Amino acid sequence: MTPPAPKGSLADAKDSKAEPAPPEGARAEPQSSPLAPPGEVLSTLRKDGTRRWIRPRPSEGRFLSGRRGVAYGLMAVFLTLPHVVIGGKPAILLDVVRRRFTLFGATFVSTDTLFLLLAALAVFLTVFLLTALFGRVWCGWACPQTVYMEFLFRPLDRLFEGSYQQQAKLDREGGGIRRVAKHVVIVAISVFLAHTFLAYFVGWSTLMGYLTTSPAEHPTAFAVMVSVSGAMAFNFGWFREQTCLVACPYGRLQSVLLDQASLVVGYDTGRGEPRGKAKKGRAVAVAERGDCIDCRACVTTCPTGIDIRDGLQLECIGCAQCIDACDAIMTRTGKPLGLVRYGARSELEGGTPSKILRPRVVIYALALLLVLGGLGGALLDRPSAKVKALRGIGAPFVTLPSGEISNQIRLKIHNQSDQSRSYTLSLITPSGAQLVAPENPIQIGAGELAEATLFVVLPRAAYAGTGELPCQLEVADGVDFERVVTLTLLGPSQ
Ligand code: SF4
Ligand code: SF4
Repeated sequence: MTPPAPKGSLADAKDSKAEPAPPEGARAEPQSSPLAPPGEVLSTLRKDGTRRWIRPRPSEGRFLSGRRGVAYGLMAVFLTLPHVVIGGKPAILLDVVRRRFTLFGATFVSTDTLFLLLAALAVFLTVFLLTALFGRVWCGWACPQTVYMEFLFRPLDRLFEGSYQQQAKLDREGGGIRRVAKHVVIVAISVFLAHTFLAYFVGWSTLMGYLTTSPAEHPTAFAVMVSVSGAMAFNFGWFREQTCLVACPYGRLQSVLLDQASLVVGYDTGRGEPRGKAKKGRAVAVAERGDCIDCRACVTTCPTGIDIRDGLQLECIGCAQCIDACDAIMTRTGKPLGLVRYGARSELEGGTPSKILRPRVVIYALALLLVLGGLGGALLDRPSAKVKALRGIGAPFVTLPSGEISNQIRLKIHNQSDQSRSYTLSLITPSGAQLVAPENPIQIGAGELAEATLFVVLPRAAYAGTGELPCQLEVADGVDFERVVTLTLLGPSQ
């Protein structure tokens, strides 16, 4: 028989979540209206539907130090990448308008669908694998929303408005000039970040051109800039943690990607319960108490406003702030660290630790290896050019005044290499045919696509009997590309 789950376990998360006490410094909940929901539906929502602002208290500790280092490193990468040039090209340039995507020296075009498909698959499988192994490690450590919110915009809150209690006071009494000044800075930073973001799509030099000319000369780019800046200012200034709680699809997806053995931030219910303050006369006798002294330090530090003791919740972004907060309390009370810690759910709930190598982990890893292998092989095999030959539009052939038969061919050559190349065209078959090309060789710039119209002229007698002839056309750049394309020439059969 399964014993009843202790208070605070994953199993009773919903019940214990029904009436959470307001965190320190927060406004008291207003009186319930007849339409009020029976329990909490969202940590940022009061029962009367008004916003409950989350003003987390930062908790210094090993995880916050580590996340801070990672966050500032990622910010530095984001700000410097648009200036990095590899082999004469930007390190990353996602030219959506021209459908050309440059990634660390290699340029892909819209016809490179296989690479795009495999790369997208690899990204999805990596997310699946990382989530199965390490839970929401992406959310807590590397997602731009968390990185900028927790290590740029919340520090700005503290700089302009003071401690988390002072911020909560401003929420109750009105922000005044300090809050206005903070929002001005948030808008300025958002405009700067939006410009950097745009540089990934247009390139730094083009961006500088936009910045030094009138918006009337580039209205679309200006509109995109204003929209992205506005969206960032709205997100980081007002919407904030609600992006993680209600807008991000990954938060929803994680519920199906996690299992009992995935690494999550969790509360050791067996060790912590029954919780109680270390005072005489409390309901929980000192001898029976668990290690949790119900100080709520783990709650007041949570950037999404939840109580980790209620079990694993969709709102938990795995930031580990509650671990740092609780470890500080454990140090002060002389108890071992790790009442709140990284662990597998099965282990945190008192079960046996699960294996790392589980079916879903093995399947995700194998599928990822397969896709990465395919992507690597396709990249190594990628020719420096693509050639396509099509018959001309209109009449299948033309009889020239000389009596000869002319077939029109449309030739498309895409130079996928990093240098300008010269492509020479030569007819292999049929013998005796004359190739008429306005330009031969054809000069094509790096990454450029060119289209040429050619004519293959043959005596009328060559088509006698069948009315068609196989044709082989060779395209070579004299460096590393040589391709023979075949098509059928048509003519009169009599
Ligand atoms: S519960 Fe802990 S790990 Fe989860 S979001 Fe809150 S502070 Fe971060
Ligand atoms: S910080 Fe630790 S001791 Fe304090 S309430 Fe949270 S789990 Fe309990």
